[in-house]
Amino acid sequence: MKILVTGGSGYIGSVTSELLLDEGHAVVVFDNLERGHRAAVDRRAALVEGDLRDAAAIRAAVRDARPDAVMHFAAYALVPESMRRPDLYFENNVGGGMNLIAAMLAAGVRRIVFSSTCAVYGEPAADCIAEDTPTRPANPYGESKLMLEKMLEWHARRGGMQAVFLRYFNAAGATEKFGEDHDPETHLIPNVLQAALGRRDKVVIYGDDFDTPDGTCVRDYIHIHDLARAHIRALDAGCCGAFNLGNGRGYSVKEVLETARAVTGRPIPCEIGARRPGDPPRLVAASGKARAELRWTPRFPELSAIVASAWNWHRAHPEGYAR
Ligand code: UDP
Repeated sequence: MKILVTGGSGYIGSVTSELLLDEGHAVVVFDNLERGHRAAVDRRAALVEGDLRDAAAIRAAVRDARPDAVMHFAAYALVPESMRRPDLYFENNVGGGMNLIAAMLAAGVRRIVFSSTCAVYGEPAADCIAEDTPTRPANPYGESKLMLEKMLEWHARRGGMQAVFLRYFNAAGATEKFGEDHDPETHLIPNVLQAALGRRDKVVIYGDDFDTPDGTCVRDYIHIHDLARAHIRALDAGCCGAFNLGNGRGYSVKEVLETARAVTGRPIPCEIGARRPGDPPRLVAASGKARAELRWTPRFPELSAIVASAWNWHRAHPEGYAR
């Protein structure tokens, strides 16, 4: 198949493109390279530089590429930034998404796999979050993703689209080629590994007074390779609707630090800091639906394997992608 990948220069888009190409699919990346990296676009893919907020640009890209399906990753994805500047998130994630939908409808492209997030659930009370847990986003980022899900759902209901929403929990790890490189880096595992490499002094743990076993936040980390594979399974399975992608097992911030110390053999200094606004204490996926309906099973569920793959990538690319 030929797949148009928006955001193919970003962390998850780059790895998914790599796996699609490995499986023999053709990939056209549509990306403005604003927050991604040219070096993260797989060399076997075609790159169309353009911005989703430019309706004519995405319309031309979809018309010219004539893809069988779209995988839509391009979006802003920083919760704190979304709290400061909701306008940016609605303009880019929702407005850009609407332009993409319009371009697909105009070109008769009906299949889409959409990069969504567990942030659509907000701060659920449930121990394990299933797809029918009420969606109550706690920030504009989560809201922007949910709004696009809803638009796609209405198009799907009226028969115009086959849409899958993959609600990611905490993506982490790397393949040999592609890894995580954000500027600024806000995510836990890359920050921990930067400290292991001596590129930052220490890790600040954002609060140790949560109602969790060791007081630090619990998250469900999922290997980027497993996440990327789920997109291809979603395409193959021809399903619709929302699917959580996680391992169903939570690790605290302190457990991540301990695992990283064991994997790297380095001390990794840390200190306890203030809570980060909007951090729910525990986010763990019930991912039985993806396992059953997408026939998807994570191959690398162990946190140590996830961290080891990220460590290999960070050691090989201490500066990230060349800027
Ligand atoms: N975190 C932390 N220090 C950091 C980065 C993150 O203590 O330098 C915590 C954060 O508060 C959250 C968890 O680690 O509880 C995972 O954060 P991340 O930003 O990686 O993902 P999120 O769950 O926010 O999407």
